Order: sequence, then structure tokens, then C-alpha cells
Amino acid sequence: MRWRGDRQSTNVEDRSGSSGRSVGKMATGGGLGAIVIAIIVFLISGGDLGSVTNTLGGGITPASYETENVQSTEYQEQKEFAAVVFAHLEDYWNEEFSEMNESYQNPNLVLFTDSVNSACGQATSQVGPFYCPGDENVYLDLSFADELSQKYGATGDYAMAYVIAHEVGHHVQNELGITSQLNKIRQQVSETEYNKYSVRLELQADYLAGCFSKYLAGETHDGQPILEAGDIEEAITAANAIGDDTLQKEYQGYVVPDSFTHGTSQQRINWFNRGYKYGDLEHGDTFKEKDLDLAS
Ligand SMILES: [Zn+2]
Repeated sequence: MRWRGDRQSTNVEDRSGSSGRSVGKMATGGGLGAIVIAIIVFLISGGDLGSVTNTLGGGITPASYETENVQSTEYQEQKEFAAVVFAHLEDYWNEEFSEMNESYQNPNLVLFTDSVNSACGQATSQVGPFYCPGDENVYLDLSFADELSQKYGATGDYAMAYVIAHEVGHHVQNELGITSQLNKIRQQVSETEYNKYSVRLELQADYLAGCFSKYLAGETHDGQPILEAGDIEEAITAANAIGDDTLQKEYQGYVVPDSFTHGTSQQRINWFNRGYKYGDLEHGDTFKEKDLDLAS
């Protein structure tokens, strides 16, 4: 993706310096007390967080804590990249909503390391990037880029752009009132039944990331297309890697379709591609579509 020097969103809040960066430091400095507190925090927030936030998928993987300097050039670059992607997303969704004569409130991007407090509770990097409808923030630990490339083989800057676009897709769903409708349904149905709605919500966020990608494909940076060869493939590789079936096969060796919350790898790819093809809201009603595989 061509992005250097482009406008960076001002709706970015960097909280990455506020928490301890190194787990090793915490274990030696905080001792057992810190570990006990960490477990309690996990027990309190762990169950609830999943029920109110919209994650990306991949939450069942163990976190990879790394000790790196938050001020490193690499970090600054990742941050600038995220801020540029976020700015493009602002441009795109403001334009789309104004065409529908609807108002649109920009979300914020909160960068953090290791753990963060949100209106949806405390979260660790383990849950992956997520959107909290309660405060309309997208939460992102930039080290997720390393996880994407090292653990999931999803390399390239556009893999991360897809991730951010997916989370902003959840904000768009919130703005459209879809999220609140689903929260009502959630209170009326069983967990297994709700999982089916969750899959549709997630696939729609993938669709919206595809729509954004179509928009970017038509935009230029210094007279050249913003999207470079291979960018869309990078997004598709990421979508493939974080499909429920792929993750379950990898981490538990078998697949439980009833427990799917984000859709299979193929479904995620298909809905991203569909968004990239149509770039409109009409073709993105995952709640209407009977066949989520889009086979027909
Ligand atoms: Zn999601």
C-alpha cells in the first residue's frame, strides 16, 4: 500500500506507554501478587468482554508478549501506517454516509500494549484487536502485526489494513443500528443460536473491509494507485488465517461448527471479495443471505 506522507487521523490515542511493556519485568518485580491479580482480572473481564465486543477472531491463541522499545522506529512506522489507514477509513465512511443522507461519527483508534481498559471491560492483547460499541473505540495492539505474520503467515502491510478496516466495519454496524439489534437478540436466544448471528455480524465486517478496499483501489497517492500489487492477496491471506475452522484445526485439532463466531476461512474470504467487488451496502446483508458460502 502506498501511504507515506498521507493524512494521518487525529482520532488516534496512544496508550501504549501506560502499561508495563515486559512480562518478565512484571513477574520479577510484581512477584506472585501481580500474577494473582492478573488471573483475577482475567476471570472478571474474560467472560464478559467476549459478550459485548466485536473482535477479529483469533482470540483463542495464546498471547505472545515481547519486550521491545515502544519508541522504536518500527513502532512509529506502524503507528503512522495505522493512522493513515484510519484517515482513509474516515474519508470513505463519511462519504458513504453522507450519500445516504445519514450522519456519521468517526470512531477513535486506541493503541495499547499488553492490556487496556475499555467501556467493555479490561482486555489483554490476547483477545486480538477489537471494537467496543460502548465507547466507540477500536482497540489495537500494534504487535498484532507481528502475530499476523509470524503465527498466521499473513505478511504485508495490507493484512493489517484489512484488520483495521474490519474493526471499523463493526463501528459502521454500530452506527447503522445493527449492533443494538443483535444485542437484543442475544438476550433471547441460546449461545449456540446466537453464534449464528455472530458469524453473520463478523462476515459483514469482512464485507465492509472489502468495500473499503474497493474504494482505496480507486484512490491515488502522488499520482499512483494507493493499492499495490499483492495488497488484496495480503488481506485474503489474513482472512483465511483467522477463519474459525482454520484456527480450531490448528489449536484444538478438530472443528466444532456450532461454536463458530466469525465464520470459516472460505466464508471470510468470500465476503471480503464480495465487498471488494460491489463496494456498496446493498450486497452486504449477511443476515438475509441463506448460503453464507456464496456458493451459488
Ligand atoms: Zn470482528
